[in-house]
Amino acid sequence: MRFASLGSGSRGNALVVEAGRTRVMVDCGFNLSETISRLQRIGYAAEDIDAVIVTHEHDDHVGGVARFARRMRIPAYLTPGTLAAVARRFEHVDVRCFDPHAPFWIGDLQVEPYPVPHDAREPAQMVFNDGRHRFGVLTDVGCPTPHIRSMLSGCSALMLECNHDPRLLREGPYPPSLKARIGSRFGHMRNEDTALLLAELDNTRLLHVVAAHLSDTNNRPALAQMALAAAIGAQPDDITVATQEAGTDWIVLE
Ligand SMILES: [Zn+2]
Ligand SMILES: [Zn+2]
Repeated sequence: MRFASLGSGSRGNALVVEAGRTRVMVDCGFNLSETISRLQRIGYAAEDIDAVIVTHEHDDHVGGVARFARRMRIPAYLTPGTLAAVARRFEHVDVRCFDPHAPFWIGDLQVEPYPVPHDAREPAQMVFNDGRHRFGVLTDVGCPTPHIRSMLSGCSALMLECNHDPRLLREGPYPPSLKARIGSRFGHMRNEDTALLLAELDNTRLLHVVAAHLSDTNNRPALAQMALAAAIGAQPDDITVATQEAGTDWIVLE
């Protein structure tokens, strides 16, 4: 299995996961031409994607999905709640609903979804399993739950939200209502929350950690890297950051 972020943050998210002959995109918050040029950066054409999985209806995740899926004639996978929130935009898309508690297969890739607390209708995050490695993804979550901990334990790679540093958020320019939303239990994870979660997981198989969905305004890559590295006794440089502009290079699980 290998994966690459095409970009991560509040101005758009997309992630590509490949196993065997199967290539799926998780979310697409970019317009069509932006998505195609970001795919080119990792050596893909738009036609290479077999399916898109949507985590939730916020525009930085779903904004480009319907158009991409329609144009490429590929299925889009959503929870029933997410579909209810975006149904009108998804006319003429091959929609497949998934239960956020039930694993399903797309080609060679098993998807293990799980529900998360976030201010959306029925948000789900997921673990990808190719039979040899599990790759766990968690962004857009207000606070970790016991179920999240059990899903993310035993993974070979993790992509974890490090949305903000509480001091930068507190002292930053956002209006009080937005600060409250971001910091709530249905908002986004602070660096230290993510570090605490990471430290609590079974990390005996862990090879790669990626910090994702960093706020441009309320976080710094070095702060996220320091927090996650300390949680697992690694060096800050060992933690990859998925940036808004460039995402990540391919990360390969042999
Ligand atoms: Zn988001
Ligand atoms: Zn969100």
